[in-house]
Amino acid sequence: MRPVSVKFRLADEKIEMPKVTKQMLTRILSYFRPYWLRMFLVIASILMTSSLGLVPPVLIKNIIDKALPQKNLKLLSLFILVSIGTTILLGLLQVAQSYLSVWISKHIILNMKNQMYAHLQHMSLNFYSAAKPGEIITRMSSDIDGIEDIFNSTVVNALSSVVVLISTAIVLIIMNWKLALVGMFVLPTFIIPTRKVGKARWKIATRSQEKISQLNQIIQETLSISGAILTKIFTKEQDEFEKFEQTNAAVIGLQIRESVVGRWFRMTITTFIAVGPMLIYFYGGYLFIKGEISIGSIIAFVALLGRLYLPVSQLSNIHIDVTRSLALFQRIFEYFDQKQEIEDKQDAVTLGLIKGKVDFEKVYFSYNNLVHVLEDISFSVNPGTMVALVGPSGAGKTTITNLIPRLYEVIRGSIKIDGRDIRDVTMESLRKQIGIVMQEPYLFNDTIEENLRYGKSNATEEEIIKACKAAYIHDFIMTLPENYQTVVGNRGIKLSGGEKQRVSIARVILKDPRIIILDEATSSLDSVSEMYIQKAMVPLLRDRTSFVIAHRLSTVLASDQIFVIENGTVAEIGKHEELIKTEGLYKQLYDTQFKAQIKSL
Ligand code: ADP
Repeated sequence: MRPVSVKFRLADEKIEMPKVTKQMLTRILSYFRPYWLRMFLVIASILMTSSLGLVPPVLIKNIIDKALPQKNLKLLSLFILVSIGTTILLGLLQVAQSYLSVWISKHIILNMKNQMYAHLQHMSLNFYSAAKPGEIITRMSSDIDGIEDIFNSTVVNALSSVVVLISTAIVLIIMNWKLALVGMFVLPTFIIPTRKVGKARWKIATRSQEKISQLNQIIQETLSISGAILTKIFTKEQDEFEKFEQTNAAVIGLQIRESVVGRWFRMTITTFIAVGPMLIYFYGGYLFIKGEISIGSIIAFVALLGRLYLPVSQLSNIHIDVTRSLALFQRIFEYFDQKQEIEDKQDAVTLGLIKGKVDFEKVYFSYNNLVHVLEDISFSVNPGTMVALVGPSGAGKTTITNLIPRLYEVIRGSIKIDGRDIRDVTMESLRKQIGIVMQEPYLFNDTIEENLRYGKSNATEEEIIKACKAAYIHDFIMTLPENYQTVVGNRGIKLSGGEKQRVSIARVILKDPRIIILDEATSSLDSVSEMYIQKAMVPLLRDRTSFVIAHRLSTVLASDQIFVIENGTVAEIGKHEELIKTEGLYKQLYDTQFKAQIKSL
């Protein structure tokens, strides 16, 4: 691959800085609150290290001004020993301080990630359909991980810089106020360029976040199994690569700029830092010649001056770090603030073991609150009944079935199970009694056994085998190299569509729910798989209320009731013979879709 170099210019559009509100600060602080004792220890150790740091320069002054002129070896050794002792103590305190601050920040990350995961887990399906691929991962990983820097560098640095700055300034003023004024003379020159640089870095950082998100999205979309198949089949490798290359280059370009802006900034500051001591030597020398000051004081002054400039340069950077941290928190809070939409009511009760009666009463539904996908749907299904849902694609069959386990919420009307509104019971107790077999079953990249156990975690080996035999998949599993321990691959890619569906039927048999929703595979299956699935469906549906989105005539014929769905409404309800006679939509569907299957029956 040819190496590329990156050219990037920053567009001059406006990017809003996050606003600091009291509410936001309180919210941020709430994450730190549980660790107040450790925070207190960090602050105490900052105070101690900052004041201990003043000791060596003061000792230098005494060595030069007292021990050396007096030729007092004892005093010299004492000063040296105290100086070494303080430095060691300082080092130890700093180790303890960084351990504590890392501990605190890592625990905040730990809690925040747990909280975020639990929050996102309970989001409605609308959230997952709208989320860009990679975005959830970016927020949960790099955004939340960024908080570590906030605490370790922003908060701790700011605090210690302030303490060092103030304590050093006091000592300098006490030692010689005139010299102290000269030393501080260059301070404003640090602060002036800071705002400009801060804004530039902020712009670049925001844009680079966006680009990193985009890059993650490309990776996740194109380097996933489905994405990879699509790219290969449509031979879009080059196009995808170019998209990746461009975004990758944009990210690197931004990062280079970010780093260069920082370097310029640091260069200015280092220059000023070098100028300070020269001024002290000059003015201090003048005072020395006039006999107003000792050599020790000048040396100590220069040593202390370093302690003055470092925190000032750090505090100048703080403005950038704070802005950046706030933006991070803002992005994280944005996710936390997304409403979960479907939640248990405060007084939701546990739904006891149900018989399986399902009633839809004047149900309306919309995905976007603009167009109704379902309109005025009413029906009543008795326990143990098998309902076949038929109708043109896009009519609303899947939507109807998704409303029963409350994967989406009706916008008007109600759905009742055994006479109870599903919004009055806990989602957990509701969903425990509903099993779904999807057209494209989802399997985790784990062993067959673990995938089956998702239906019943404490199932015995006998139960698992029994369910698999009932689902006509046991014999197939036994032909696999590691039988039940075979890993199915990403999304179950190593199994055929029919096999996956039978595994997922076995999984639902293990769950043993009262209500079953089955989205029958369309005609893509071969006749042998088809036959197995038809056989597997028998024990699955027996004695349970079931809604089958039917694509097979045999299924439709086996059902107790057929619901013909058209344009989001129930157009016809009845049994096969009755519906054929009415010469309506079912008859049309039968003629166009089902009749052809008679030969294969
Ligand atoms: P069917 O199962 O009968 O083929 P669906 O219930 O899947 O029909 O879809 C009904 C209508 O709702 C279609 O017009 C479809 O485009 C729309 N729809 C389905 N899922 C979503 C979704 N997640 N967001 C927005 N619209 C959707």
